[in-house]
Amino acid sequence: MSQVLALKYRPTSFDKLVGQETITNTLSLALSSNRLSHAYLFSGLRGSGKTSTARIFAKALVCDNGPTATPCETCENCKMANENRHIDIIEMDAASSRKIDDIRELIEHTKYKPNIARYKIFIIDEVHMLTREAFNALLKTLEEPPEYIKFILATTDPMKLPATILSRTQHFRFKQISKSETVKHLAHILNLENINYTNDALEIVARAGNGSLRDTLTLLDQAIIFSKGSLTPSNVASMLGLLDPMKIEEIYESILNEDRKKLLEITKELDEYESETVIDELIAYLKDRYFEQDVRYSNMLCERFLRILSEAKNLLYINANDSFVLLLVFFKMVEALNVKKIDDMITALENEKNLHVSPKISQIVQKEEMKQSFSKIEQPPLSVSDEDMEKEASTSVFLNKNIELFQKLIEKMNDRSVEIGECFESSVSFTSFEDGKLELSSSAEGENRLKLRHNWSTIKHLIQDTFGIETKINIIQTEPKEDKEEEKPQEVEKAEEVPLEKTEEQNNTAPLSKHPFVKKAMELLGQDNE
Ligand SMILES: [Zn+2]
Repeated sequence: MSQVLALKYRPTSFDKLVGQETITNTLSLALSSNRLSHAYLFSGLRGSGKTSTARIFAKALVCDNGPTATPCETCENCKMANENRHIDIIEMDAASSRKIDDIRELIEHTKYKPNIARYKIFIIDEVHMLTREAFNALLKTLEEPPEYIKFILATTDPMKLPATILSRTQHFRFKQISKSETVKHLAHILNLENINYTNDALEIVARAGNGSLRDTLTLLDQAIIFSKGSLTPSNVASMLGLLDPMKIEEIYESILNEDRKKLLEITKELDEYESETVIDELIAYLKDRYFEQDVRYSNMLCERFLRILSEAKNLLYINANDSFVLLLVFFKMVEALNVKKIDDMITALENEKNLHVSPKISQIVQKEEMKQSFSKIEQPPLSVSDEDMEKEASTSVFLNKNIELFQKLIEKMNDRSVEIGECFESSVSFTSFEDGKLELSSSAEGENRLKLRHNWSTIKHLIQDTFGIETKINIIQTEPKEDKEEEKPQEVEKAEEVPLEKTEEQNNTAPLSKHPFVKKAMELLGQDNE
């Protein structure tokens, strides 16, 4: 290889430019339709193809067949342009010729017609480096140059240009050449050069080139020499002073396996590498895994790893003890796995909570709680044994369901007549519902009692509508009565329902639903909706 690749493969026509299709299309169109501006500004990152484009554009202007988007490449103008020795194409580097005198000299040049071509073209590279005075001197010529003058200004930093310059030029923004386009271009060159390579190796070179095709080609030159004609990820990484990709993988494997001993060993091996490069490689690897949707690297884990790695860069900046920082980073990443576990547990718990709690478990819990609650009752109105408790607990689910039915009943009554509903709700409480027998307790007195009695057929209909058509109803009067005979609604007897019972001896006047035990149970079960 006698010539460096960047020169050998410098594009000489628009179709050979890599990654700037929009710009080359626009310029081609301007050339073929002869709609030309007198000043162009090309801005973009270094190595994005600004200077190459400027040279091709200049050639297209001076070609004997031009202006044309496809210069003939055979005329004297084209040949001289390609060899970079055209007398009417003047290149100037504003980084080294930035003073007003340099610009004055340039302006002097513009006064003379081109020697052989139809245009005299000035290509000013790094134009943002000009001094303010130099810019001012250039301004007038830029605004109204002689018709045979064309300016092509190039810069990596258009923000540093005065607005007056920007407004007098047609601005083309060169985008960063993507990694995939770069890899494709490298592969194309290596195929022509008959050199073996793997795509992974080219990815590493392209990444190291940082979006600059020129830099990437220079690295490729080195890599070809270093790897003796066969580019593999390992030798390319080694040439670039990067960690072998296998080592990066090993680091991540050890982190995921929480193998601290192995990480300690690896850290010692990493001594010869720059820690910042190692961190960059770790980030690049993580990014690749994320884009691949590797299941081992969840969103959350990637976010945590990236945060740790980014923070590590700050640590390296303030602390020179590189290997210590690296070890710290690895261990922090291992710890981040624990946070993941905790997060998993929280998610699992939340899922569990959303599922129906298994009745067995809920009953055991409730039984325990009820036992406690029970022990707090000073004068237990019922003597409850453990067995009773168990029975009570196992039926508590049904109790809850029945209370719901009772609520529905009240709603239905309110729908039928608010008067009856209110009367019923204020004086009748649910006691139990077992084997089709509904037991209610009533504290209704006087007018309310009469009201309930008069509307008994409606109430009964609604009860059977709610609890089932076969429901037998038993109402226990809980208030002290003036007349025990009067206390039963006639309809109850007529319907041959379970006779009303005397209640005082068994009941402390409060409806069962108000009993602390039942209240507690209801509270507990209130969470356990169907
Ligand atoms: Zn030509």
